[in-house]
Amino acid sequence: MYNTKAYSVASSTSPFARTTIARRDLTGRDVQIEILFCGICHSDLHLARNEWSGAMPAVYPCVPGHEIVGRVTKVGSGVTRFKPGDLVGVGCMVDSDRTCPECQAGLEQFCPNTTLTYNSPDKHLGGVTYGGYSESVVVDEHFVLRVPPGLDPAGAAPLLCAGITTYSPMRHWGVTKGKKVGVVGLGGLGHMGVKFAHAIGAHVVAFTRSPGKKEAALRLGADEAVVSRDADEMKRHAGSFDFILDAVAADHDVGAYIQLLRRDGNITLVGAPAKPLAVPAFGLLLGRRSLSGSPIGGIRETQEMLDFCGAHHITADVEVIPIQKVDEAYERLLRSDVRYRFSIDMASLR
Ligand code: NAP
Ligand code: ZN
Repeated sequence: MYNTKAYSVASSTSPFARTTIARRDLTGRDVQIEILFCGICHSDLHLARNEWSGAMPAVYPCVPGHEIVGRVTKVGSGVTRFKPGDLVGVGCMVDSDRTCPECQAGLEQFCPNTTLTYNSPDKHLGGVTYGGYSESVVVDEHFVLRVPPGLDPAGAAPLLCAGITTYSPMRHWGVTKGKKVGVVGLGGLGHMGVKFAHAIGAHVVAFTRSPGKKEAALRLGADEAVVSRDADEMKRHAGSFDFILDAVAADHDVGAYIQLLRRDGNITLVGAPAKPLAVPAFGLLLGRRSLSGSPIGGIRETQEMLDFCGAHHITADVEVIPIQKVDEAYERLLRSDVRYRFSIDMASLR
């Protein structure tokens, strides 16, 4: 074991504080990573404040962070894919059982024994896993991703969660060139959804509550931007979408978007509001429309997404902050006052 600096919360209402956590000595399959940047996902906030107490109760102290980009500092004796100096990423998972049908299919996100990057039982050290708001992390090489050369590391960090979470359902639901795709909520996830749908060649419509984000949505690659509070603007798109990605972090009227789907269209929830959403049955059944959800993506697909980003020069739009500003960043995230992701510069922790 060795000690590393981190930022943690002691309870659902505590501010972040500097702390020291233990990381394991490397096993033969492990990669040790010096963390350069870690994105701030809205899930970090939900979890740190125990807003998901039903589905995923928080264990304190809690060190969030699952959008990690760093430099390999050391590898175990059996590691074949990485060497010191490599630029790598770690997302929401750090382990799984590797034997279940889901793992065999490369869908580790559905493994019943997956270990999340933070707040999951730690098989090696006991207690729970600690995430990327820290200096260094040790991860099994299977869960380490290669960051393509040429991508800015601060902007690449959010790809590890916001990127794969929006890329995966678009692939699953057959978003291709010429399809009409909606993206609801222009936050960390939503802005990545717009970038991917645009790069794939879809006709992209961004939905936002903020009139001020309209122009920005077009700059991100949206073909149209709709202020969701404007009923007339919404009506103009009724029955027309092949696919809608809903990336809203709070309670909202999902029925309004179901109405916008064409026959057999799908709306996928990637946002995870704490409270259940009201779903109008008629909205679904009249057009044989479907509503589904999607969590992150498997390791193979995460690498595919990163390589896609390398080929298309895609990264998140980030505001880089020192870790000392993480509490302030959470408050601003709640006000949707960030374009579009905070990325913590971990040099500020050293
Ligand atoms: P974020 O940056 O805060 O973005 C959420 C966006 O939702 C905001 O920018 C805002 O967009 C919109 N929004 C916020 N409050 C709203 C309200 N009351 N009504 C309508 N729209 C509202 O959050 P994020 O990091 O992108 O995460 C979004 C959600 O996805 C969170 O719940 C997070 O936990 C979840 N998530 C899920 C997965 C997964 O695997 N499925 C992975 C990561 C995150 P506008 O200002 O444009 O309206
Ligand atoms: Zn996340």
